[in-house]
Amino acid sequence: MDYITDITQIPYFHSLEKREQDQLLHVTSQYPFRASKHYLSLINWNNPTDPLKRIIFPDTGECNSYGSQDPSREEQYTVLPGLQHKYPQTALLLLSDVCGGICRFCFRKRLFMDCPRQTVRDYSDALNYVREHHEISNILLSGGDPLILSTPRLKKIIHEIRGIEHIRIIRIGTKMLAYNPYRITDDQELCDLITAASTAEKKIYIMAHFNHPREISPQSITAIDLLQRAGAVVVNQTPVIEGVNTDPAVMADLLRKLSFIGVSPYYVFQCRPTVGNEVFTVPVERSYQIMQSAFERCSGLAKRARFIISHSTGKIEVVGQNKHNVFLRYHQAADSRDYQKFMISQSNPEARWFDDYLPITHIDSPFHELLYDSDPGIESRTATL
Ligand code: SF4
Repeated sequence: MDYITDITQIPYFHSLEKREQDQLLHVTSQYPFRASKHYLSLINWNNPTDPLKRIIFPDTGECNSYGSQDPSREEQYTVLPGLQHKYPQTALLLLSDVCGGICRFCFRKRLFMDCPRQTVRDYSDALNYVREHHEISNILLSGGDPLILSTPRLKKIIHEIRGIEHIRIIRIGTKMLAYNPYRITDDQELCDLITAASTAEKKIYIMAHFNHPREISPQSITAIDLLQRAGAVVVNQTPVIEGVNTDPAVMADLLRKLSFIGVSPYYVFQCRPTVGNEVFTVPVERSYQIMQSAFERCSGLAKRARFIISHSTGKIEVVGQNKHNVFLRYHQAADSRDYQKFMISQSNPEARWFDDYLPITHIDSPFHELLYDSDPGIESRTATL
């Protein structure tokens, strides 16, 4: 078996005191454990704070009372079971509620909990919706991890999507390149599928999920190379996670290593206020500083990522900070009027989410010169937005 779902099978577990073992079993009764043997082999079990262990191994702090099961209010944008339509051009299809491992900080951990099923096996209604909405040019296949599905099943889904003329981009959100790269390297049929479904004008994007440079194993690099040769565009997204990539040198290493292997750093996310995730979150302004400090060590290609708060109203980019204020703008907005907003807040070093900055000052004219000289704490200067 490639996967382990019982932490008592991990030798390290038996090195812990009975009290801690009981606490961890309590955690996994709420938020399940799952790891691939490949990933477990990357962990340095002699280091209690090993960042890869932190990504996959339960933490007693997960029982802290914190956060919501749906921090980005995905339910609000769910138009049919398993189908979200938040931004006009993009549809999100939740195909699987299983992953190659379960990240402790997952923002969709509700999928793995004892909750009603939110992914779909029969996606025909969802695709009918997409067929009728010509403004949709991108489909993001997500979950869970779509690469947990068999290749014949993926082939059927992707073939049907390719039959919809207005869909140009199919994105596959996956952490399999970190958790189980053999899923790609041992399956020629998968790469053949990528090639068959890619044309000069219609691409497949693999939205990879590496959080730490050590996750990019030699097997991962081989798998990425195969996908790229098959015609896929591979990009990466990661949250800033306490104890995993909060050292700017580590974040820089991750971004640089990705750029070396032709994987574009796409988004770096603020950790969402998800139930059980308090111990993994980092205040917004500290996350921003980590990114700025990491960027100083990166080439232009390695710092293409944007630092984003993936809020229920849209993707909000933190674009600047000084000792008094934080500056934000909408990178993607569910309500197109929000694109007109540039936002300024008083600094709040404790803020872990956009809502902690509310109420916020909106400046509604992004294409004009603005004079910030009246609000105390906002530096007097002219900015062209
Ligand atoms: S791979 Fe993605 S969906 Fe799966 S547990 Fe990790 S963050 Fe969540």
